[in-house]
Amino acid sequence: MATQYKNLINGEMVETDEWLDVVNPANEEVIGRVPACGKDELDQAVAAARAAFKTWKTSTFEERHAACMAISTAIKENADELYRLLTSEQGKPHAQAKGEIFGAAGISAAQSTLQLEEEIVQDDDTRLHRHRRVPVGVVGGIVPWNFPVMMAVQKIVPALMAGCTIVLKPSPFTPLTTLRLAELVADKVPAGTVNIITGEDSLGPLITGHPDIDKITFTGSTATGKKIMEGASADLKRITLELGGNDASIVLPDADPKKVAEQLFWSSFQNAGQVCIAAKRVYIHEDIYDELSAAIAEYAKTVVVGDGSEQGTGVGPIQNKKQYDRVLELIQDAKDNGYKFLTGGDKDPSGTGYYVPITILDNPPEDARIVAEEQFGPVMPLMKFSSEDEVIERANSSHYGLAGAVWTGDPEKGVEVAEQLETGTVWVNEFMHLSPFAPFGGHKQSGFGAEYGKEGLREFTYPQVITVKKDNVVA
Ligand code: NAD
Repeated sequence: MATQYKNLINGEMVETDEWLDVVNPANEEVIGRVPACGKDELDQAVAAARAAFKTWKTSTFEERHAACMAISTAIKENADELYRLLTSEQGKPHAQAKGEIFGAAGISAAQSTLQLEEEIVQDDDTRLHRHRRVPVGVVGGIVPWNFPVMMAVQKIVPALMAGCTIVLKPSPFTPLTTLRLAELVADKVPAGTVNIITGEDSLGPLITGHPDIDKITFTGSTATGKKIMEGASADLKRITLELGGNDASIVLPDADPKKVAEQLFWSSFQNAGQVCIAAKRVYIHEDIYDELSAAIAEYAKTVVVGDGSEQGTGVGPIQNKKQYDRVLELIQDAKDNGYKFLTGGDKDPSGTGYYVPITILDNPPEDARIVAEEQFGPVMPLMKFSSEDEVIERANSSHYGLAGAVWTGDPEKGVEVAEQLETGTVWVNEFMHLSPFAPFGGHKQSGFGAEYGKEGLREFTYPQVITVKKDNVVA
């Protein structure tokens, strides 16, 4: 029988009568079972978080730092076990799973150093005017399946650092590594401060609508983000939304095709393209289009698609059947419309597992579905452009605004173009690099608020202003 994983509520690992199966996307085998929680378990977790909040809200910086460092250390000390488990449930190759696990440990350590200093707005003979930040209360965290561990800790750690307590719901597709981590930290963080419960998607709206949760921090699709905003409006819960993206990469004519081909490839195909900040539309200047597109297609031939636990695999399977069917549908749409493929375009018919061959499209039109929609899979549309103004307009013509990149031999020129892109993050000559000390968030329909840095931490707090009139002592 598949291993049964428990939930973390009030410092105890607990189970339910109902279970959900978790499948390895590389072979479609059930590899674990997790509790299928509903309202009762959610109520228990929220009650535990509420009770813990009474004391945690007045905890010192040192206590918060120690709890978050315990999480970071637990991840690091058990990295070997965790990354293998992550590959088996998420599908990403071992090297990338290791990157996520060590990244999660690093992000936790970095964010555990953050604090929001009190601001003295006025301090003179007449008045002391203080602005301090106070924790919002009990947080509901909801995360997706593409970076389950990273997303979990980037909600748990700032919540704790702000003095909040949290009830976190992993994706039903990828809850195992997060629950194993829960078990590892259950006795290392104060009971009730961190609660992790699993369930179907239907558990999400129960969290969003729970009257005793004060804030929702969510990472996932824009469609779900809109539902969350609506659900949270009933009692004006605070919300932070990290949503979808359709990031554009712009390659200027002075970029060296030999130097950028491989980097561009991985900016799209990391985690089989299932990255919110993957390059999902690549615009290449017409002067270098033929040479660069050929170089990318050539490099693609060297990358192995397969089971992430096997040595040499570069691109793993799609994480779940629903997303797999969606990516195949987008590829079929491109075929039906007669767009040209440089590689891929066909599903490998052999065997089990949600594998999609590396697929690169040759200059499909701007209104092709594969260009206009977030594909979230191993498919890269390459498009030709002729002028800077034109490419900036095309890059910005999306309701998403998460990130983007500019590739050029002239970094100053790159910054000039970067500043004209309507996205929360823009890289010049690199991709996917994020700092835990700089805000990460989407413009337009890619998000609401930000994570990371002090700005991210502030989202778990309310401002409180206390003024003391000094020249009016009334006793
Ligand atoms: P999703 O929106 O389907 O699910 C995300 C989480 O929300 C899951 O835990 C799910 O169970 C829960 N959920 C589903 N319906 C809900 C509802 N009505 N109310 C509350 N919760 C609900 O997203 P996904 O398919 O898991 O993830 C892929 C998407 O996430 C992509 O669009 C991707 O771009 C986005 N994403 C964004 C970021 C970012 O930082 N901006 C990072 C990673 C992924």
